[in-house]
Amino acid sequence: MSAEFEVQGIGITEIAERYGTPLYLYDGDELESRVDGLKELLHPRLEFFFSLKSNPNIGVLSVLHARGARAEVSSMAELVTARRAGVDPADIIFLGPGKSADELAACLDEGVYAIVCESFGELALIDEFAALRGMRAPVALRVNPSFSVKGSGLTMGGKPRQFGIDESQLFASDDLVARHPNVRFMGVQVYMGTRILSEEAVAENTERIFELADRLAGHLGIPLELVDIGGGLGVAYFDGERDLDLALLAARVNPVIDGFADRHPGTRLVMELGRYLTATSGTYVVRVRYVKESMGERFAVADGGTNHHMAAVGVGSFVKRNFPMRVLNRVDEPATESWHVTGPLCTPNDTLGKKVQLPPVRPGDLVGVLRSGAYGPTASPVLFLSHGYPAEVLVHDGRAHLVRTRDDTEDLLRHQHLPDRAAATALTEGTAS
Ligand SMILES: *Cc1c(COP(=O)(O)O)cnc(C)c1O
Repeated sequence: MSAEFEVQGIGITEIAERYGTPLYLYDGDELESRVDGLKELLHPRLEFFFSLKSNPNIGVLSVLHARGARAEVSSMAELVTARRAGVDPADIIFLGPGKSADELAACLDEGVYAIVCESFGELALIDEFAALRGMRAPVALRVNPSFSVKGSGLTMGGKPRQFGIDESQLFASDDLVARHPNVRFMGVQVYMGTRILSEEAVAENTERIFELADRLAGHLGIPLELVDIGGGLGVAYFDGERDLDLALLAARVNPVIDGFADRHPGTRLVMELGRYLTATSGTYVVRVRYVKESMGERFAVADGGTNHHMAAVGVGSFVKRNFPMRVLNRVDEPATESWHVTGPLCTPNDTLGKKVQLPPVRPGDLVGVLRSGAYGPTASPVLFLSHGYPAEVLVHDGRAHLVRTRDDTEDLLRHQHLPDRAAATALTEGTAS
């Protein structure tokens, strides 16, 4: 018998049989070691806020949080998830360009540490809501800086963007603070981009963000209780990419933080991380249903595809690049053949891997897409062809835990309704009167 993929000593065959496929499998040890590595090597004043957006599973968050990660949330459900995972409101920040009135109200009622405000319109609304509650709302300003720094997969700053308020607009306003008496301006946030794999770029970003924060705080006359330097640290997915070297990152960034931290002894310094914390812990596991050939090329058709893992399509690059993939039930067999690994959707785009080197694939094999713990099902069209959300399994302390049940047909149909004649008529009459 050949070797199989294991997580903390539990074999993939057993996990797939117990929970079915397709599924997402997370290694709790890996989640912990990601937080530990950052805490060990990066500046002691730096606090790590987990961006739930990258993986909103409450089980995943609970492991990260137990290790000291705090929470950065961007929706009502993410806020509630963080609270139920036991994150203290004082360790939650709420961010996002389109916050609803309900979300802003919940931020104030829950007492989150900071609302990261992204527009003048939002600021006016926060001021109004805080007045209604007889309180002052803690607000950090998200700045869209005039500069941008190379080295990010997706640039978020230094361009026309829906995120944050342009640096120039903030410097052009002299009475911003006076016009919002119910807002306690307490900090600055800047997020430069995602998938950053250059230690140099992180250091340069950080330096420029600190400089901007000081300048803006001086101009507006506000304190800096919080400076959030964003994050966007990447992981290597594709050939030719290299993982960040944490020791090197520390050597570059820590001296920058040192200077600022000394000058601002009371300021909370925050880094936001999504992908960096969760990507390497996760494997997307599918079972091969059929193998076939078409015009001389081999296809392995599996029970899950881009409906659960849109990132594997390789959007954003001209050539399709593959995530690392393995036949999990025979990991020691040499990869001698070229395979397209596809899913159950009726579109040619449903391709998890194109011309992947794999051992000979057979029906029933388990194929894994590695490094898939970030932006998986939550960032995929899980309802396409009505297959629904996959199961999620977390192995923690040597035990497997089902941390999300897969959707079944009833789950998918629960929110749909046959047209109801009576209800339709009532609405029409209501409008007419
Ligand atoms: C998406 C996002 C993050 C997380 O990004 P990663 O690249 O996954 O670390 C953090 N902050 C903001 C503002 C974001 O939009």
